[in-house]
Amino acid sequence: MADVDSLEFLLAAVRKGQPRAVGRAISLIENSAVELPTIMRALAPAAGRAMVVGITGAPGVGKSTTIAALIAAVRRDGGRLGVLAVDPSSPFSGGALLGDRVRMQQHALDGEVLIRSMATRGHLGGLSVAAPSALRVFDAAGCDMVIVETVGVGQSEVEVAGIADCTVVLLAPGAGDGIQAAKAGILEIGDLFVVNKSDREGTHAVVRELRTMISLGERKVGDWKPPVLSLVAINEEGVPALLAALAAFRSDAESSGRWQQRRLEQARRQVESLLLAKLRQHYALERGSEIERLAREVRDGQLDVFSAAEELLAPV
Ligand code: GDP
Repeated sequence: MADVDSLEFLLAAVRKGQPRAVGRAISLIENSAVELPTIMRALAPAAGRAMVVGITGAPGVGKSTTIAALIAAVRRDGGRLGVLAVDPSSPFSGGALLGDRVRMQQHALDGEVLIRSMATRGHLGGLSVAAPSALRVFDAAGCDMVIVETVGVGQSEVEVAGIADCTVVLLAPGAGDGIQAAKAGILEIGDLFVVNKSDREGTHAVVRELRTMISLGERKVGDWKPPVLSLVAINEEGVPALLAALAAFRSDAESSGRWQQRRLEQARRQVESLLLAKLRQHYALERGSEIERLAREVRDGQLDVFSAAEELLAPV
């Protein structure tokens, strides 16, 4: 893979949207391959077209069913779509993870739907660097929309919100879902709220509760007010309304300047994450024994942490 010809071949295949090439490029990202900077440099000018939609919500709420329904609808409109499932907690590639899901399989042979799972633990800079790099690949491959889903729990929802153009929070009727959302800080990150499993009882209550919570949130005049939609993902009821809401979000964000502003903040965070990761790596490699000595001195009360850090930052 190291020779330039095969790398150029790979990049050309990515640009043609060939699923295997996209998969290969994402594996190289996942493994922090030495070719990665070259790949990203080559793909940079092609990036920025696709809308990145983050989908988040508790396990079992219907994320993969919703994604499958979205894929079907976008495909009917003739669009090309990417799906990236990110597992920030795992160091192992989850290549088969999404493909295993029954509802996704109907799309597995569709060349216009690119589905990949990616593990980001151990990657230089973590999810915040690896996932946007993978998104660039989908973008270069001509996707109109890329859906990012997180598997695993915890902070990952917030991290995904940090790389998406639009974050969709999925909930379902059930004990205290709305309140859980508020607790998890999900209210702050949602651009759209979708109450799935609306064929079940209790949907109206969740929708009402969410709308109340959203209207209580602080918002400036002209700010986007996240809509609350209901969905029955298993039979694709409500999908056209969801797509329309995504389009409305995009045009609102573009005309208000928030779209570019958010992308700028994301780009800044990515640069910072990579810079910090590289600094840490550099210090560990080049100054490891010095850090060890300073740490011992701090432990033994011969030095304070501030002076230790200053000493490391001082020009050598
Ligand atoms: P995920 O863990 O969030 O990806 O959830 P899944 O998409 O795997 O869905 C979990 C379960 O909920 C599955 O058994 C789905 O068939 C079911 N499910 C998904 N959407 C709906 C829906 O709209 N209505 C009902 N009744 N069940 C649904």
